[in-house]
Amino acid sequence: MKLKLYNTLSGKIEEFKPIDPNHVKMYVCGPTVYDRPHIGNARSAVIFDLLYRVLKYLYPKVTYVRNITDIDDKIYKAAKERSISIEQLTNENIKIYHEDMRALNLLDPDIEPRATDHIPDIIEYIENLIEHKKAYVSNNHVYFDISQYEQYGRLSKKKIGDLISGARVQVSENKKSPLDFVLWKPADENFDYGWDSPWGRGRPGWHIECSVMASKYLGRTFDIHGGGIDLVFPHHENEIAQSCAINPCEPMANYWIHNGHLNVNGKKMSKSLGNFYTVRDLLDKYDGDVIRLCLLMTHYSSPMNFSFDTLNAARSIMKKWKRKYDGIDVFDFYKNKNFVSCSSFIGALLNNLNSPLFVSLV
Ligand SMILES: [Zn+2]
Repeated sequence: MKLKLYNTLSGKIEEFKPIDPNHVKMYVCGPTVYDRPHIGNARSAVIFDLLYRVLKYLYPKVTYVRNITDIDDKIYKAAKERSISIEQLTNENIKIYHEDMRALNLLDPDIEPRATDHIPDIIEYIENLIEHKKAYVSNNHVYFDISQYEQYGRLSKKKIGDLISGARVQVSENKKSPLDFVLWKPADENFDYGWDSPWGRGRPGWHIECSVMASKYLGRTFDIHGGGIDLVFPHHENEIAQSCAINPCEPMANYWIHNGHLNVNGKKMSKSLGNFYTVRDLLDKYDGDVIRLCLLMTHYSSPMNFSFDTLNAARSIMKKWKRKYDGIDVFDFYKNKNFVSCSSFIGALLNNLNSPLFVSLV
């Protein structure tokens, strides 16, 4: 049986063909740890956990890398607001993230690199981009030069001209083009947290972290790159530009997989609307298994409307399953070949991870 996945890069459902069938490699953009994980973060983690299990079912070896962004503007802001150190804030949130994801019965990724553990790698990577004239230094910042990467926009299907005329790109006098994005920026004057670099004391931009950590652990080209749909532009587009600017024939990852947005009660989740739920809020009232099942009852690529009605529906399904399949975790199918051997359960998942069909078949 063959796995089919929707590839954002081609805009089509394609048969998955790994570079090396003996070792499949996947990178997923993980959390920015400025706060506790919310239900939208959990949706992405649950979906890529399901894909990881399907890959483990099909292939002898899978390496799943999910990074942690532990340096970022939101992290600075949150640490400042709480008058605690960056390390204290990020360590606290990483611990909670791990506890919550394990409570949702997710497998740990094989490698979970933290951006702050890779600063020398990031500096070296940026130096290489500057050397090849793909990046430039301006006023203690380093920017990626979009004009030096012809294929910019191929993932998001955006045209450079339209992007420049659009008002949504940040204009800065330091940049040659408003689309150029930052690879290194100076440390905050009031909050000296940073690293020495050839361009002054500072810290990396967000996009470069992923290019560096993905290539370090998976190589310049690997099989699958995943994340939420909101990361397609600019984050993933910029990752491709950084990773491919020097090696133009390489696409970074062959399959780009994105999960849809999550709304709560039909609206974008926000603290001000009172419809913001952390995973911990929900775990106080529901089992992790129930929350996970609820998140898989919508197809991964569709937008999901999360509500307590769907969560309650998941709870009654889970109750039936527990009665019927006493002691079997149906999502552990990847180690239980008997459970799926003659059934169409696995077929549903192989067909672009059709988890709602899988749930109804079970
Ligand atoms: Zn990323």
